[in-house]
Amino acid sequence: MSAVATLSPYLRKIDVPAADLRGNHYEIDLGAIRHNYRELRAHLPERVAVYACLKRNAYGCGAGPVARALAGEDVDGFAVASMLDAMAIRREGLSNPILLYPGALPITAAAVKSLDLIVTVSSLSELRQWRAAIENLRVFIKVDLGFYRAGATPSQAIELLAEATADRKVRIEGLYAHMSELSGSGAEDAYRQLKKMNGIIRQMRSMDARVPIIMMSSTEGALNYPDMDFDAVDPGALFVGLSEVEQPLRDVVLRPALTAISTSLVSVKRLDSSLRPPHEVPWLHADMTIGVIGMGWGDGLPRALPNDATALVHGKRAKLLPPSHLEHIRIDLTDIPEARLGDQVVLLGRQGHEEIPLEEVAHHWGTDVMGIYGNLRDHIPRAYI
Ligand SMILES: *Cc1c(COP(=O)(O)O)cnc(C)c1O
Repeated sequence: MSAVATLSPYLRKIDVPAADLRGNHYEIDLGAIRHNYRELRAHLPERVAVYACLKRNAYGCGAGPVARALAGEDVDGFAVASMLDAMAIRREGLSNPILLYPGALPITAAAVKSLDLIVTVSSLSELRQWRAAIENLRVFIKVDLGFYRAGATPSQAIELLAEATADRKVRIEGLYAHMSELSGSGAEDAYRQLKKMNGIIRQMRSMDARVPIIMMSSTEGALNYPDMDFDAVDPGALFVGLSEVEQPLRDVVLRPALTAISTSLVSVKRLDSSLRPPHEVPWLHADMTIGVIGMGWGDGLPRALPNDATALVHGKRAKLLPPSHLEHIRIDLTDIPEARLGDQVVLLGRQGHEEIPLEEVAHHWGTDVMGIYGNLRDHIPRAYI
């Protein structure tokens, strides 16, 4: 018998909660997600629907649980880019409409059908390929207002609308755009895009195409440009607490969904003179205590760790010692003699009276707060509070 076959009866009996395996977890505050939704809802006219964008596994916070929390608040629908995220939402037993952003190929038609998803089409060839694969196709037509990503140009959009409208087996559920990066270019650029959208809508009306939902605002649009609400908005970052706008016109108060990144000491060692420090390691000294945390850059921590990053151990700041390794990072425990194997190490959040805020973590990771959410990894267990 192979070694694995011999072991397998034992492996099946091991039932360790995932968070205990290496002592790593993210803490996600679903109360904050619900709060952020209510803040948005309170500022939107009642007729405007909310399609919550839960792409990239709800910005690392877990598409299933986040969708469940939002469904509890009566969100209208969801939008995702990955089939995996759509599956996570349906696994929660939720039947809200789910829009698939560009990214799924017609080869996934069987999954689109069984999960009852609405696909995005940006060109005639996309429409024809999906149409050939699915009998009663539900679509949102995507238009490009100057982002130069997916989406039909305004004139192609009209062609697309005409063909989809004429096809009785295609149900056009909406027409949408994603505004190009606004921060920086500002209101003038936003209104230039609105003008293009209005042009498309005018032509659409003149050709008698029926489109129930027009949508173009994500977080920044929904917070800053009420005249771009149309029938629905599809913000995403907003739900995890990122407004991306300093002083939005709609004065929402958002709370961060990610409240802690926590790991453990997987090794604690006091150095002695039998291991002489090599000269090229500047921080090493003979009588220091070195700990190892069970998270590294393979777990989403920065590969280039700066010299001044710290973590919390027993409520005290301890220096993380670069470089970062795939699965481990060293930590200086010399001034925390009570530290032991298995003790909790907080990389983000509160421990005792100390706190490491999101902005500080972003600075140390060489990114912004959105970059932290983007670096959350799906193999790290999430603890929902
Ligand atoms: C990402 C995305 C959104 C949400 O953007 P946020 O800035 O996170 O609100 C909306 N629509 C599309 C098409 C997207 O790709």
